[in-house]
Amino acid sequence: MSEERTRVIRELAEGGCVEPEDEADSLLTAARQGVGPIEGMVLRRLRGEPLAWITGSVTFCGLHVRIDPGVFVPRPHTEVLARRAVELLPDEGVAVDLCTGSGAVAVVLAAARPRATVVATDVDPLAVACALRNGVPASEGDLDEPLPYALRARVDLMTAVVPYVPTEELRLLPRDVLAHEPRPALDGGSGGTLVLVRAAGAADRWLRPGGSLLLELGGDQAADMTAMLTYLGFTDIRTHADADGRDRAIEGRRGPLPPAAVGQG
Ligand code: GLN
Repeated sequence: MSEERTRVIRELAEGGCVEPEDEADSLLTAARQGVGPIEGMVLRRLRGEPLAWITGSVTFCGLHVRIDPGVFVPRPHTEVLARRAVELLPDEGVAVDLCTGSGAVAVVLAAARPRATVVATDVDPLAVACALRNGVPASEGDLDEPLPYALRARVDLMTAVVPYVPTEELRLLPRDVLAHEPRPALDGGSGGTLVLVRAAGAADRWLRPGGSLLLELGGDQAADMTAMLTYLGFTDIRTHADADGRDRAIEGRRGPLPPAAVGQG
């Protein structure tokens, strides 16, 4: 083991890093690739900046995803949602990823379904710029607001990792997440389901009959969201557990269009 590696591991460990060896290796690799001098990178990490902002990327579902400073870092538990999303997207289908952030889920979809159309939105201009740099056609705006009307009732799959942490539980997040990551990407309002409910409404507007909605969620939100999707006429509603056995995603199929909407484009 090189002296430099030993020193970086020690500095990170003394600074309270939970995985000093892995992080040291990521930082040293990034430094070797010319991202910056190692000392500055270690200092930033010790101040609590997310590792991905310092190295400039994460590996998500085995793919390299660029992460610009200020952009929500895709979580390992979201890989389950991304893999399920691939299964739900037909080869030449149309997918929309709302609240795309860095565009990680859309990157996975586009890589696995190269003949599909994958578009994304995010309200944060920093996120849109990052997603564009990841090759994702992303538009800036609130949820479905920027989507082209031509996609109305045409979408095969809508995914979204919206902010879903209940405002009253934000203080329970890891200190570094709270201090650095964008609050609007985390704060889901009272109970945390504010944006989830709005995303379900968007899915109702844009999915084709039989198209799929796939949303990440947390805590005990699955029951409320099952009720919400049922109310909107979704069928085949299923939840997916993360590695800890907790409900982490919900999916459903859009029902038939109401008669009044048929023929309106
Ligand atoms: N608990 C999640 C996390 O920090 C919240 C992410 C979110 O609200 N989208 O990973």
